[in-house]
Amino acid sequence: MIIQKTTQPRIHNFDPKNFTFGNDFIDHMLICEYENGKWGEPKIMPYGPLGFTPAMMGINYGQACFEGMKAYKDKNGDVFLFRPEKNFKRINKSAKRLAMPEISEEIFMEGLKALVDIDRDWVPYGEGTSLYLRPLIFATEEALKARIATKYMFAIVATPVKNYYSEPISVKIADYYSRSASGGVGSAKAAGNYAAAFYPTKLANEEGYEQIIWTDDNTHEYFEESGTMNVFVRINDTIYTPPVSEKILDGVTRDSFIQLAKHNNIEVKDEPISVKLVLEAHSKGELKEVWGVGTAVVTNVFKALGYKDKKYNLPDLKEEESFSLKLKKQLVGIQTNEAEDPFGWRIKVEKKY
Ligand SMILES: *Cc1c(COP(=O)(O)O)cnc(C)c1O
Repeated sequence: MIIQKTTQPRIHNFDPKNFTFGNDFIDHMLICEYENGKWGEPKIMPYGPLGFTPAMMGINYGQACFEGMKAYKDKNGDVFLFRPEKNFKRINKSAKRLAMPEISEEIFMEGLKALVDIDRDWVPYGEGTSLYLRPLIFATEEALKARIATKYMFAIVATPVKNYYSEPISVKIADYYSRSASGGVGSAKAAGNYAAAFYPTKLANEEGYEQIIWTDDNTHEYFEESGTMNVFVRINDTIYTPPVSEKILDGVTRDSFIQLAKHNNIEVKDEPISVKLVLEAHSKGELKEVWGVGTAVVTNVFKALGYKDKKYNLPDLKEEESFSLKLKKQLVGIQTNEAEDPFGWRIKVEKKY
């Protein structure tokens, strides 16, 4: 690995106790180029723009995928990653589906740890804070023929984030648009999936809903995901989440919630869940909670579901009655080294560089 440290660090201007979210990028980034059938040597270098032209294949044909993960700091200043091997496996699953070369575990893991180690001062400490890491792979070849590219870049960039407590939101159950299709790319974190979701989300926003609950593209009768998060439904004391498939992204937070729920002796049904079942449960007063989960905000609690022209309000549970908030608290405790980690999910970033 080539390490070229910045001569003009910006960390001194960064106040980890008072920063705006998403605009400050850490001092360094990692890049690694693929050419002639192989990945070259990864390089950590000062964060900044790279030279590309509009003829870059990645932006013309959409060979681009990414990951979203976080590094957390504990009260002693130690820095941890959360289940990074899941993100490593998933970026390769996405790459494969988009006919892009897979990255080696060594480049991904060692590169990630070295970058976080070098810029560990950028990892904020405090409730709801973390360093958001964005590994990505995209086609860099300069050519305008629709075919598999021959040149790619793997990169990791990062920005400190703070999730303030997120207010419960209203979500609209999709009855026309789809996020993914059978045989499609829904289970890949393909850049184009997000572009395709923006317009339907904008229409839902105009109707007063913050997000969309995506349903299956064929019948629109089954729940799939919520925005860019996996979705959970609690009916009485059982929680349901749609099974991962080629249309539903295999979220790390989803998997962690399932394992934590089982650890708490909560019954979890990893099975298809229909709009009909959810609305019937609502009419019987058995629908207790619906929420989304993902790395970015961990949990988004829903206060109302919109379906066709109707709005169904959800109960306003107290914190101690809520499964979603209880599981979130336990998960964040593990991520931030405030709680025991019976699952071995936390990985300490050692000081090496
Ligand atoms: C990233 C993502 C998720 C959440 O995955 P996590 O690994 O939990 O962050 C869920 N759905 C979609 C569509 C996503 O892109």
